[in-house]
Amino acid sequence: MTIPQDSTPCIDLHCHSTASDGALAPDDLVARAADKGVSHLALTDHDTIAGLQLARAAATGSGLSLISGVELSCVWRSQTIHVVGLDFHESDPGFLAALAGQNENRWQRARMIADKLSRLKVERLLERATEAAGGDVPGRPHFAEVLVEAGVVPKVAHAFKRHLGAGKPGDVKACWPELPEVVQWIVAAGGIAVLAHPRKYRLTATRLRALTADFRRAGGQGIEVSVSGQSSGDLGFVAELARREQLWASQGSDFHFPGAPWCELGRITKMPDGLEPVWHHFRQPIEA
Ligand code: MN
Ligand code: MN
Ligand code: MN
Repeated sequence: MTIPQDSTPCIDLHCHSTASDGALAPDDLVARAADKGVSHLALTDHDTIAGLQLARAAATGSGLSLISGVELSCVWRSQTIHVVGLDFHESDPGFLAALAGQNENRWQRARMIADKLSRLKVERLLERATEAAGGDVPGRPHFAEVLVEAGVVPKVAHAFKRHLGAGKPGDVKACWPELPEVVQWIVAAGGIAVLAHPRKYRLTATRLRALTADFRRAGGQGIEVSVSGQSSGDLGFVAELARREQLWASQGSDFHFPGAPWCELGRITKMPDGLEPVWHHFRQPIEA
């Protein structure tokens, strides 16, 4: 589908492909976005830009503009936080090295999980979990799959209850870098750092204000105001936070897979008034 040049832009700056935990391949994701009327899309896979090339190729000639994106994991006061990077230079050597480091963190965690579960005597556990993850870094659901397959537990739910869930041996946290470091990677690569889905961390209002202030001090410039499945109360709260900290407002569906009624590419609640859109500050600003 070609998007008419004069139509109002439909902007979605947060979604996932098979390059991380999404269900659609990057090219299929772009095709779906174009079909849903999205005019500007940022693919923001977890800690990788491996899908960008294929997404960009699919976007060429589709009428959809692809903006470089990524969703990075980091730590703030021992809580895992997600920071979305937008419109950075994709071939920046420092940035690519940082992404390689994030990937190594994931593998280290996978090796630790396998090690903690070694007493279960499942042959080739890490290799099999890696296969379950399609050759990528396995997470706990992949280990759970192998435990079922190996007959250790009857169901995935049991695998979590006994071996992988909170407080169990396989509940290993990844060693993510601190928030300011991750923000600086994005800024150094010419991008804009955006605090992802602020209400998802279940922080108190006071802690969320502290996080936002620290994020701003670290060089962060944007905050996701309009995200899928958010109540109007949360929308208003985050909009107020954006105004107070003078952060540019971003929006995105956080789409992972088709079929979820609360989440579709390009289906985004209108942003409250009085906010400065992050896309006015892209290298090629979007007029909207
Ligand atoms: Mn995800
Ligand atoms: Mn996230
Ligand atoms: Mn996400």
